[in-house]
Amino acid sequence: MRLGVLGGTFDPVHHGHLVLAERAREQLKLGKVLWLPAGDPWRKADRQVAAAKHRVEMVRRAIGGSGEFELSTLEIEREGPTYTVDTLAALGDQYPGDELFFLLGQDALEDVLNWRDPERLIALATLAVAARGEERRSPAALDRLVPGLSGRVTWIEMPHLEISATELRQRAAAGQSLRYVTPDAVATYIREQRLYGG
Ligand code: ATP
Repeated sequence: MRLGVLGGTFDPVHHGHLVLAERAREQLKLGKVLWLPAGDPWRKADRQVAAAKHRVEMVRRAIGGSGEFELSTLEIEREGPTYTVDTLAALGDQYPGDELFFLLGQDALEDVLNWRDPERLIALATLAVAARGEERRSPAALDRLVPGLSGRVTWIEMPHLEISATELRQRAAAGQSLRYVTPDAVATYIREQRLYGG
């Protein structure tokens, strides 16, 4: 099977994530997309991140009963910082013979230099990347990030959705509407649980 993997903080999950996952599923003919909320948010230490149980529950509500999207709590269950490369290696063991596609926005790709063991990471999975309004990096620019990266990137076509979790948190805090930027079930959960100080 061709298996998509979408990791994120999902604080909260929104329609940008859903469209990315769905377009990647369609374009790459993925049998399944695994959604992996991050555990210990060690790279977002500058701000408070909602408890994992809330972020997991919001992803569960967002993906609903779709058989093609599946929640994985692999990263939540692991103690301490989780590295994408370790997660992909664990998924490789869990799904032997499957071809892995790691889904991400280009902003996250720019972090690639900060990732642990990028060479191993790109050996474990193809990176399925969506630009978020900015120009796509050229193959030469990709290879400057990590040698050989351009051969391991495939681009996902999707409409530019200027939606970010940051904006959702700000809107929630200000008591503004979250309608149409995240599924209703997620907006309701945020309100009921009083996440983000709304
Ligand atoms: P924040 O605003 O808190 O930084 P975020 O909206 O970028 O969060 P994450 O959970 O960090 O959400 O993102 C998970 C993955 O989804 C990342 O690879 C990110 O680039 C991608 N992504 C998030 N929003 C979009 C969007 N609107 N379009 C395309 N990709 C997106």
